[in-house]
Amino acid sequence: MATPTPTTSDVQTKATFCRVCHASCPMEVDVVDNRVIAVRGVMDDPLFEGYTCIKGRQLPDQMADPNRLRAPLRRRLDGTFEEVSSPEALDEIAAELRRIIDTYGPRAVASYTGTGGYQNSVAVGAARAFHQGIDSVSFYTSVTIDQPAKGLAGFRLGGWEAGYQSFTDSDVHMAIGYNSMVSSYAPLGGLQGTNPFVVMRRRKAEGMKLIVIDPRRTELASFADIHLQVRPGEDPTLLAGMIRIVLDEGLQDHEFCERWVSQLPELAAAVEGFTLDVVAERCQLDPDDVLAAARMFAAGPKGVAGTGTGPNMAAHSSLTEHLTVVLNTILGRVNREGDLLENGMLLYPEMPARAQVTPPRAPANGPPSRIRGLRGYRGEMPTAALAEEILTPGEGRIRALIVSGGNPAVAFPDQELTLNALADLELLVVIDHRMTPTAEFAHYVVAPTLSLERADVPHLMDRWFRQPYTNYTEPVVERDGDVLNEWEVFWELASRLGSDLPLPGGSPDMAVRPSTDEIIDLTYAGSRMPLDEVRVNLRTVHPDKRIVTQPADDGATAKFTPAPDDFMTELADFLAQSTPMLGDLDVSDYPFRLVSRRLKHVLNSTGTELPGLARKGTTNPAYMHPDDVTELELAAGDLVEITSPRATVVGVVAPSDDIKRGVISMAHSWGGRSLTDEKVRDIGTPTSRLVSAEVGHDPVTGMVVSSAIPVAVRKAEVPV
Ligand code: SF4
Repeated sequence: MATPTPTTSDVQTKATFCRVCHASCPMEVDVVDNRVIAVRGVMDDPLFEGYTCIKGRQLPDQMADPNRLRAPLRRRLDGTFEEVSSPEALDEIAAELRRIIDTYGPRAVASYTGTGGYQNSVAVGAARAFHQGIDSVSFYTSVTIDQPAKGLAGFRLGGWEAGYQSFTDSDVHMAIGYNSMVSSYAPLGGLQGTNPFVVMRRRKAEGMKLIVIDPRRTELASFADIHLQVRPGEDPTLLAGMIRIVLDEGLQDHEFCERWVSQLPELAAAVEGFTLDVVAERCQLDPDDVLAAARMFAAGPKGVAGTGTGPNMAAHSSLTEHLTVVLNTILGRVNREGDLLENGMLLYPEMPARAQVTPPRAPANGPPSRIRGLRGYRGEMPTAALAEEILTPGEGRIRALIVSGGNPAVAFPDQELTLNALADLELLVVIDHRMTPTAEFAHYVVAPTLSLERADVPHLMDRWFRQPYTNYTEPVVERDGDVLNEWEVFWELASRLGSDLPLPGGSPDMAVRPSTDEIIDLTYAGSRMPLDEVRVNLRTVHPDKRIVTQPADDGATAKFTPAPDDFMTELADFLAQSTPMLGDLDVSDYPFRLVSRRLKHVLNSTGTELPGLARKGTTNPAYMHPDDVTELELAAGDLVEITSPRATVVGVVAPSDDIKRGVISMAHSWGGRSLTDEKVRDIGTPTSRLVSAEVGHDPVTGMVVSSAIPVAVRKAEVPV
């Protein structure tokens, strides 16, 4: 019998926001009998004005997906999986964790929260608290595999307590390797994912100048006044060259530098070799364009440069980030006394915002890793070393891993090493709503709630919203199956292990499972706006909550240090040789550079399991310039072998004239656990296979070179 068409009176419309990615677009959701039948943007939202993207509009399909996991799975001895109840799974997992802690110590228990877990406002905090409760330092997240340099730049250089200038009132903005129109992401001071196309058009109409540095003519670059199609991996060259132009022409903010910046002569000496000719040749740019961009940016008077995953995943990512912030700093692009900060950071405790420098400090001062002399930083251990922490014998070796909303099998650098590590674990627990290549290795797969089944706050965007803005959502449908919120998994395990869950506001009751709202309250305890107030201020801008930059303390003496010895040494090495971080590499063997990119219809490895998104493509094409395609005697749809010094992947050729010649542009985190890509047309291939954990890592962050990868390309000999 056909399902009756719902009448208007059957439909309940509820307010929520999307959590497929961090952008938190407000949505109205139509629900019939606990079934989501439609979602749409909210036209009268003051920031988003109805904006949503194709991924968020698939939420009804995601909720109804017959392949969604609706109960935990346990792996049988023969490798197949069977359903178990969540109490049974949690009992068994906790017993294994107890055995591993008693045998090897707490450090042997690790967790990794991936991009999926980050969309839940209490998942990361619960995982962190779980580690504190069991006294294990082995806490990892996706932050340390794509943009770790961002969090550390201020450590070396020093920070500005009131932050750098914002996008909203910029006269000029310089976007280096990010594309908010697709990723919905921007660095601070950049174009955020809150209705990015409309906001950019408005800002351009108001006269804002835009400089985009990207080897690809991205959607963002189509708005640029100057687009510098830089050779991948040469961002440090270009930035050092721009700093040289600024200092040579005396364009820096002299008064600001006099008061707050030290080491200017050392900085000038370090960039001296980056002449316009050197920059133009290495970056493959017209020198006039470089000069024009440097002068346009320096003229400001307001606006910052910011980087994205492109340069942050390439070699010398810390150096690139440092030079970017140095450029902003010598131009004095900071909030001055009386300036209003763009967002309100309303979910976090009040922080001082004085117009003064926070002194430089050691960047990575956390617990020592056992690998390559790395250390933890910002309360996490470096994910780039996690596979080796599993595989390397000795005290502290990781034996159990809980993966929350992540897919290491295709996302972690050095795929073969990662697969070996996953197979080596004594316990692998994956919290995911679908069977991923990582889940195939798991001993247990725990089925989580989907976003519309849980309460949340927009915890990431709270720091990035263009204005002080609050939103909150209750669950808009009841849970479909034996599914758990990510925090509940950690609470249940901690409870069984006899530990607590020390969140910022204290540990919850460990005898009776609390509500998600109680966990939200504990996670965001002491917030600028109390959570009870947030809950009744849906989609609300709070002009009265803007943070005002306070005057510097009378005795404020700290200064920025733009020329720390190790960075200047790295810069000199970089000038002398273009790929020093990649070891002894004959670049003539690897004439192409493979860069990472985003695709509109997926978020890393999430998306193509849904039919509406799979229609947009089931592989991550190898985008190449048509002239390169012709020169290699290839055609659209051909299979190519893309070979780095580490490995080979097979890609599907897609000619695209928005790519610079000599560049291959591919989305990351595709493919499966096979190392030979038989199904490349159906599931794509992971570019992470091409990179080595041992060669080319950043000395401080451990970040592995995962973009601007030197590769060779040839037609695949054996049809796949
Ligand atoms: S941009 Fe992100 S939050 Fe907004 S609709 Fe798309 S996936 Fe959802």
